[in-house]
Amino acid sequence: MPGANLLFSPRNKILAAGLIIEAFLYEEQTRRGLSVRHFDELNELADHCTICHRCVVPCPVNIDFGQVTMLIRDILRVRGQKRSAVGSRMAMAFLTITDARSIEWLRDTVLRWGYTGQRTAHAMARRMAWLAPKQQRPPATNHPPSLQAQVIHLVNRPLPARLPLHSSRAFLNLDRDSHLVPIVRKADLAEVNEAVFYFPGCGCERLFSDVALAVLAVLTHLGLHTVLPPGYLCCGFPQAANGNPQLSRQIVTSNRVLFHRLAATLGYLDIRTVLVSCGTCLGQMEQYEFNRIFPGCRVMDIHEYLMEKGVRTVAADGTAGQPFLYHDPCHSPSHIHNPLQVASQLLGGEAVLSDRCCGEAGTFAVARPDIATQARFRKEESLQAGLQQLPTTTRPVPLMTSCPSCLQGLSRYRSDLPVTAEFMVIEIARRLLGRDWMPRFIEQARHGGIERILL
Ligand code: SF4
Repeated sequence: MPGANLLFSPRNKILAAGLIIEAFLYEEQTRRGLSVRHFDELNELADHCTICHRCVVPCPVNIDFGQVTMLIRDILRVRGQKRSAVGSRMAMAFLTITDARSIEWLRDTVLRWGYTGQRTAHAMARRMAWLAPKQQRPPATNHPPSLQAQVIHLVNRPLPARLPLHSSRAFLNLDRDSHLVPIVRKADLAEVNEAVFYFPGCGCERLFSDVALAVLAVLTHLGLHTVLPPGYLCCGFPQAANGNPQLSRQIVTSNRVLFHRLAATLGYLDIRTVLVSCGTCLGQMEQYEFNRIFPGCRVMDIHEYLMEKGVRTVAADGTAGQPFLYHDPCHSPSHIHNPLQVASQLLGGEAVLSDRCCGEAGTFAVARPDIATQARFRKEESLQAGLQQLPTTTRPVPLMTSCPSCLQGLSRYRSDLPVTAEFMVIEIARRLLGRDWMPRFIEQARHGGIERILL
C-alpha cells in the first residue's frame, strides 16, 4: 500500500534484494564473515509480500517478486534464519497434517477457541476505544512492531463467526478410512450420467467446510457423481509459499501417485472434469499433469463449471437483478471466463468488481498483522468506492467471492461497512436447495448418498 509504505514497492524490493546479495558477496570475498543482520532484512523483504503475483504483469523485465519471495523464504529456512510467528506455524501445521483425529482436535481447540478469543478481544478493544480509527493511514513498517502493537493489529477487525462445527469429511462420516474412495450421488441414482473429480483443498474441506458441502450438494442436485479424494489432502501450495519447496514437491508427488491409483480403480467412470473451489489449488493443480491421470480432462473452478452447465439462480425472496459486490481473489479461479460475467450469470444482477487484496493471503494476516492492516486500509477504500456505485436500498450489500481465505478476510469488514461476505457456491446452494440445504444434504448423503470404493 504505497500510501503507507513506499519502501516495499515491488521495484524497491527488487533493488533491496540485489543490494543484500551484493553485501553477502562483499563480506564473503573480503572474508569478514557474514552479518546476520542481512538475514533480518531478508526476512523483512519476504514478509512484505502476499505472493499475489500481480507485479509481474506491469514489470518491464518480467520479474515475478512473488516467486523471488518464495525463494528468499526457502533460503532463510535452509539457513535456519527464517522468522515465523507462532500463529503462522500453527496454521501451517493445520494445513499439512492429514490425520483425521489431529485435524478435528486442532479445529475443536486451537481454531474454535482462537477465533472466539479474537472476536471477544475485538469486542472489548472496541468498547474501550483501544482500536485505531480505520480511516487513519496505517503506520509504515520496516521491522516487526512491538508485541502490544501486533496484538492491536491482530484484533483490529473480527474474525468470522461462521466456522462450521466439523470438517466436511467429518460431517459426511468419511474421515476415518483413507482406503475408500467416496462417490457422492443421489441415493436413487446408481446409473452414471456424468462423473467429476472434486479436490476440496484445505480451506474448503477443513476450515470453511460448508463450501465443500455446498459444492457436493449442488453437483448432486444436478445429477452428477462426484468422486472425492480418499483422505485429507493439501495441494502443496502453502508449503511452497512459506519457503519449503521440498515438502511441497513431496506432497505433489504423493498426491499424484494417489490420483493415478484412484484413476486406475475408477476407470469405468470416464472422468473428464476435475473441479476445485479455490484459485490457489487451481494454480497448483496445473503442476499435477491431470491429463495423464484422467486422459482428456479439464481442471476448472466450480463456478465456471456451473455457468457452463447453465445454472442461473434468483434470490431467496424471488427478486432477480440485485447488484452486488464481487471480490476477485488475487489467485483468481476464473481461468476460462471473465470472473464478473461468471458471477453475474450465476447469481443474476450486476456484479461490481471490488479490486485489491483483502489482506488475508493465507497465513499472511497472522504472520504480520501490521502489514495486513496496510492492505486492509487500501481494500476498505475500494469497498467504499464499490458501495457508492450501488443503490442505497440494498444494505447490507452481498460481497461475493470464490476463495476460502478471501472469505475470511472479507468477513472482517462487517464491523465497519454494510457488507456481508459470502462464498458464491454457498449462495447458489441456498437458492437452489433452500436455506436448510446443509443439514438436509448431510442427512441424504449419510443415508445412501455415498458409494465407497476400495482403493
Ligand atoms: S505482494 Fe504481490 S505485487 Fe507485491 S511484491 Fe508480492 S507478488 Fe508482487
